[in-house]
Amino acid sequence: MVRPALLLSLVFPLAQAWAQAPADSPSPAPAATATPAAPAVSGAGTATLTTPPGTAKVTFSRVNVNGPYIAMTFDDGPSGPNTPRLLDLAAKDHIKLTFFLIGENAAHYPQLVQRELAEGHEVGNHSYTHPDLAKMSDDAVRAEIQKTQDAIIAASGYRPILMRPPYGAMTPKQRLWVSHDFGFKIILWDVDPLDWKRPGPDVVASRIIAATRPGSIILSHDIHSQTVDAMPKVFDTLLAKGYKFVTVSELLAMDKGPAAKASPKPAAATDAPAPTTASANPASTR
Ligand SMILES: [Zn+2]
Repeated sequence: MVRPALLLSLVFPLAQAWAQAPADSPSPAPAATATPAAPAVSGAGTATLTTPPGTAKVTFSRVNVNGPYIAMTFDDGPSGPNTPRLLDLAAKDHIKLTFFLIGENAAHYPQLVQRELAEGHEVGNHSYTHPDLAKMSDDAVRAEIQKTQDAIIAASGYRPILMRPPYGAMTPKQRLWVSHDFGFKIILWDVDPLDWKRPGPDVVASRIIAATRPGSIILSHDIHSQTVDAMPKVFDTLLAKGYKFVTVSELLAMDKGPAAKASPKPAAATDAPAPTTASANPASTR
């Protein structure tokens, strides 16, 4: 949950830097994060999103798996200049990624949506214009999501089954009806390198490498060239450590259920809040 006052205070200073972001990024200014000073990499969650007891799990920020499986996710694309480069890197290392697409970018780069799917990656819905869905009416939320589904289907014929709300922001109630009506799992993350702040490829890489553990869902943005620049080191290092990159749906299929101690919250292992600054993804975030 984003506190409005905080949001405003953060958006302003970052607005300028954001203005220089790649033109393909429709997102609003950096969305502020609920935890401004949050540790660079994953940490305790902030946004509180729990599902009522007894309800099927719809939100995941990591997955409890047996084995060194992880899912790397890239939000806000496709990006004309950066996504092809990232796809080349993934193909070279034979790894699978997941892309949470902005509907208007999918409509603009249908061939990149097709390429992502043709090369074995997964694509999910990240809204059409990257708004803060938690502050919108149900009708407006539905329109953002449906328009994006339509754009991705028009581009590729594929109907996404995953959704990541921009900034990780959705109310528990929205999660439930969106999941029900669209058949989605809502995907957050447990590793956030804050790559949108552009700390440099080495920092992005070291944050991801340090925070990744089995079952992690790693957040990044393929609209930032620095992020893509960091990937050779990220991929090589994590592969050398024995990690296996799978799509988010493949990771979810390995879910063993609640991990007694992995989660700080009683019982809700995977519905835990978005780890890290939930927010912080200006451009994206989620
Ligand atoms: Zn985003």
